[in-house]
Amino acid sequence: MSDVFLDLRNVVKRFSGVAALDDVSLTIRSGEIHCLAGENGSGKSTVIKVMSGVYRPDSGSIAIDGRTHSHLTPIEAIRHGIQVIYQDFSLFGNLTVAENLALNTELRNKRKLVNWRSVRDLARRALDRLGVDIDPEQEVDELSTAGRQLVAIARALMSDPRLLIMDEPTTALTRKEVETMFRIVRDIQAHGISILFVSHKMREMLEISERLSVIRNGRMVAEGPTSNFDESTIVRHMTGHDISSE
Ligand code: ADP
Ligand code: MG
Repeated sequence: MSDVFLDLRNVVKRFSGVAALDDVSLTIRSGEIHCLAGENGSGKSTVIKVMSGVYRPDSGSIAIDGRTHSHLTPIEAIRHGIQVIYQDFSLFGNLTVAENLALNTELRNKRKLVNWRSVRDLARRALDRLGVDIDPEQEVDELSTAGRQLVAIARALMSDPRLLIMDEPTTALTRKEVETMFRIVRDIQAHGISILFVSHKMREMLEISERLSVIRNGRMVAEGPTSNFDESTIVRHMTGHDISSE
């Protein structure tokens, strides 16, 4: 599958005159696992926020299924199937798993009452889809970091996304939890959903992705099949130690 889902083209994003993104282009193909690699402060989260409509680029464009937009609003991004799992997961800790999963869904009946049985059924189905054992009645605050992340993934999948963006998803996970998450990511991909996996962890990126892009100081410095990269080439691109003058 080599259809392009999303294409960032020559995007510039400035904060108080300073370019956080300087002519950034990035192509996400349908159904691929793509890694965006970069050191802290290189612009990774800003790329995500342009794709999800949080930031409006100063110039450049964002094409989805070949249709060009100067920018997206957050609602348009969601309608186009772009879902982001942020590092804090954006869940409500004092609500149950089921309540968190139901928040985006219209579950009120004619008398405007929430149908709690359908809330629980919906949550159960969303978690079953991931093949994980989480009690929908549990409060989110009682879950481990990995558990909360799974709830965030389940919630994102409930809106049938085309692209799931994960910002530094392995930061607080054990190796075993990373393996579970990778299994789920591959399963999501098998359903034709693209994944943008944002990270600075070399080994994990080499393990999970098919294509890889490297951003440094707000500029794309490398892009290609992951098989073209090894740890040392990624480090060189991320740190720029192979560039003699700039
Ligand atoms: P990363 O996610 O790769 O760590 P970011 O995209 O968060 O990097 O940040 C890239 C650069 O843009 C950094 O220099 C950061 O300080 C700056 N930046 C990001 N967001 C803002 C903002 N809302 N206001 C001002 N500067 C910002
Ligand atoms: Mg970031």
